[in-house]
Amino acid sequence: MSKAAIDVNNLPYADGDFFAFEQLLSAKERDRLAEVREFLAREVKPIAVDCWNRAEFPMDLIPKLADIDLVSPVKRQGYSNLFAGILHAETTRADTSIATFMGVHDGLFTGSIEALASEEQQEAWLPEIYSMKKIGAFGLTEPLGGSDVAGGTRTTARREGDHWVLNGAKRWIGNATFSDWVVIYARDVEDNQVKGFLVDTKTEGYGATKIENKISLRTVQNADITLENVVVPDFFKLANANSFRDTNKVLKVTRLSVAWQAVGQQLAAFDVARRYAVERSQFGRPIAFFQLVQNQLVQMLGNTVSSMGMMVRLSQLEDAGQAKDEQSALAKAFTTARMRETVAIGRSLLGGNGIVSDYEMAKVFSDAEAIYSYEGTHEINTLVTGRAITGISAIV
Ligand SMILES: Cc1cc2nc3c(=O)[nH]c(=O)nc-3n(C[C@H](O)[C@H](O)[C@H](O)COP(=O)(O)OP(=O)(O)OC[C@H]3O[C@@H](n4cnc5c(N)ncnc54)[C@H](O)[C@@H]3O)c2cc1C
Repeated sequence: MSKAAIDVNNLPYADGDFFAFEQLLSAKERDRLAEVREFLAREVKPIAVDCWNRAEFPMDLIPKLADIDLVSPVKRQGYSNLFAGILHAETTRADTSIATFMGVHDGLFTGSIEALASEEQQEAWLPEIYSMKKIGAFGLTEPLGGSDVAGGTRTTARREGDHWVLNGAKRWIGNATFSDWVVIYARDVEDNQVKGFLVDTKTEGYGATKIENKISLRTVQNADITLENVVVPDFFKLANANSFRDTNKVLKVTRLSVAWQAVGQQLAAFDVARRYAVERSQFGRPIAFFQLVQNQLVQMLGNTVSSMGMMVRLSQLEDAGQAKDEQSALAKAFTTARMRETVAIGRSLLGGNGIVSDYEMAKVFSDAEAIYSYEGTHEINTLVTGRAITGISAIV
């Protein structure tokens, strides 16, 4: 069978959405998805590998992302959570780093303001956040507080008259090398509760240094943040962020969207692997001719479809106002485990070419590692689920 005999773009089952979950969206949502998909193909996909290789964020993409108006699809634009999830997966499929940039600005940062700021604060801040005139970051993790950050937040907030003074350090904070604002979670020395503050990154005493030499999400600019006597006016203390329970309201939703990223990551791996299998010839035939290669593609597809099915149902529950923390935790743990298997099969299917980013799979493979660890590691999400089904917490 010659390469020319296969039209790889026009096979009926060329897409990883094998069970056509997209058909569950409304006509308006499908139109919007098509519009964003076209944007991603035009503006994001062509620059993704180069930005990743150089570990540089494409700043000139921000006004274009603002024009296509992606921030807050559910609360502001009235789309379903199912649509928001599929959209996030689709953005990840085009480039995981840009999806993560949006996940931080939209999900974590905007989500904190929407969920935890007063109406007056939201009116003052959200217009510039929605229009991306101000870019945000989310500062929770610390150098010494990762999985245990709920009880282990060391950054402090001290109230002094009409302002607060923040001191401490944060690690891994996405977008923070260039963001205008960052929500900092800090422990109030008065009552020991974790509270949220909107910090202007130009404030004296605030510093952000890029974390270099990452093997994953290289385009995302993650920073180590230092806070030395950073003064925050009282108005910039998020009115409804008064304990870690409040922070968790944001994380429950973003955990769900990271699980959708695991779906997008598998769709991307399947796209690359399937195309390679029909284009690459060995022993005088496309490698897709070999049964072992077909088996690998089908394993990748099965993982992708099962992850997507779980996420579709969870988003439907979220739309019905019924999704629980532990369901998001199981979804994140399950889909990221399937993702890790899928990208590893994909990486191997490309042989040597699977380890160079030029063929895209190496980027997809490496980016999966960050998704596996952030927004609660695989172990922590497993333990959250285990606690729910046994009534016993093994987290400590
Ligand atoms: C690319 C990237 C982007 C990120 N962006 C942000 C951001 O924008 N804002 C932000 O606040 N944070 C961010 N994070 C931080 C992320 O949420 C943390 O990395 C994550 O919560 C894990 O914390 P840690 O890295 O300190 O690992 P640790 O907590 O030190 O864990 C190390 C290992 O120990 C395991 N472990 C820990 N406790 C237990 C336990 N009780 N039982 C079993 N195993 C356990 C973990 O599962 C893990 O395997 C980002 C991280 C990455 C990698």
